[in-house]
Amino acid sequence: MSTDSSLQLQPIQTWWPGSTLPLLISGPCSAETEEQVMATARRLRATGNVHVLRAGLWKPRTRPDSFEGVGERGLQWLLAARDETGLPVTTEVATAGHVEQCLRAGVDMLWIGARTTVNPFSVQEIADALKGVNIPVLVKNPLNADLQLWMGALERINRVGITRIAAIHRGFSFYGEKRYRNRPLWEIPIALKAMWPNLPIFCDPSHICGRRDLLTDVAQQAMDLGMCGLMLESHITPDQAWSDASQQITPEALGQLIRSLQLRSAVPDPQKHTQLGILRREIDKYDEEIIRLIAQRMLVSERVGEYKAEHYMQPFDVERWNEIRETRSRWARDLDLSEDFIRHYLEQLHNESIRRQTIVMNERNKPTQHSDLSSHT
Ligand code: PEP
Ligand code: MN
Repeated sequence: MSTDSSLQLQPIQTWWPGSTLPLLISGPCSAETEEQVMATARRLRATGNVHVLRAGLWKPRTRPDSFEGVGERGLQWLLAARDETGLPVTTEVATAGHVEQCLRAGVDMLWIGARTTVNPFSVQEIADALKGVNIPVLVKNPLNADLQLWMGALERINRVGITRIAAIHRGFSFYGEKRYRNRPLWEIPIALKAMWPNLPIFCDPSHICGRRDLLTDVAQQAMDLGMCGLMLESHITPDQAWSDASQQITPEALGQLIRSLQLRSAVPDPQKHTQLGILRREIDKYDEEIIRLIAQRMLVSERVGEYKAEHYMQPFDVERWNEIRETRSRWARDLDLSEDFIRHYLEQLHNESIRRQTIVMNERNKPTQHSDLSSHT
């Protein structure tokens, strides 16, 4: 047993002795029927890659009138699937009542969902229900990007004597542009790892991506960051799933995804390289932000183009260009940026801006069939 600054942890390698990392937890978002759970378990078992079978029984849904899970009766389906396949089983608990039902049934592992981690009252209630039982517990990050809240939930569970404890990174909720269902914000699990280096962290690409085509990249990124395992949703007929259909994949596709991952060995000097990873994620963040800002700037350029088209103005305005060059060079100098670099950068930016304006203006001022002189030549 290793002692971290404030967590008592049992290394993940000892949870299921003999299993090699990364640990893979898979199964449907929701248990739907006994046959579905059993068939999923059989096909996951057949991949040879899965260590634990998951299925949600009590489903926290964003909007009412969605399928809210089969509840307690699904526990028997999980146990039957375990009996047949030998896979340990896990489900999400959100209340002390769920914990009690799972413990009575003999579920092998529990996880706390993102909507529960946000609420310290709920986490404490679950922790209290777990007093004196050493069952493995995984704690998903809270919906909001709050590292302290995630750490607090892990501490509450650990303090009642749960030493097989791990975190699950499932991304963070946000409002706006949607590449990911939940933004990964890798810097947060990285900061967690930096605080508690011995805490095992899983990644849940399914809830980060919300769609199948991004899963492999996110899973690979998690492996590259040294996460100990993955939770990935799988379903025998993903498109017909009663919840989270667009992010689920078949057990066979899951097997393929896992086999396609590159498992690079740990770096020889983890201290130094963790730092490098943190810095690079920081750079990624800035680059992402810069690109987003450039895109926004281009949209404004297009509006300028529309204005100019309306008023029959040329796209290029030398006075404005000189003003841009002068002010930006001064701003760059004040921030110790090379003027040369900023000049090149501005030229590129300005060229692209003029190009976008011109496209808009040509669209607007397109000659009509009637006035098209070329037809008279
Ligand atoms: C789930 O795992 O199906 C789930 C509801 O996850 P999360 O708590 O991450 O939204
Ligand atoms: Mn789900």
